[in-house]
Amino acid sequence: MDKQEILDIANEAYPKIVKYFGKGKKAIPEIKVYRNVFVDLTGDEDAEGEDTPSGRYDRDAGKISLYSDYIPDKEELLRALIHEYTHYKQPDGLDTQYYDQGYTYQNNPAELEAIRAEEKWHLFA
Ligand SMILES: [Zn+2]
Repeated sequence: MDKQEILDIANEAYPKIVKYFGKGKKAIPEIKVYRNVFVDLTGDEDAEGEDTPSGRYDRDAGKISLYSDYIPDKEELLRALIHEYTHYKQPDGLDTQYYDQGYTYQNNPAELEAIRAEEKWHLFA
């Protein structure tokens, strides 16, 4: 999907997602759309790399990024948005704490919670 289309759908669904899941302790993150995570992290429009996430939550910046190169449709968009919103609601350092306990990305409970929450995507479609 193109960036504007993603932003339009995300902005329409976001208030409903916030209402459904509730607000976290921090200010509600703003949504930004980039081609991919490397453009987001470097600020270079031509940046490319190996990782292919569809979204990312930046706790320090208070920002949810969505990556248009890896969002083919509305379902993936809503899944990415809900996933990252769930990370926003989790306490600071929760994932680090789990990694320190020996969990991996695949079985980290903070990650599994975000993946489970994605299943609600159809409520906002
Ligand atoms: Zn995640």
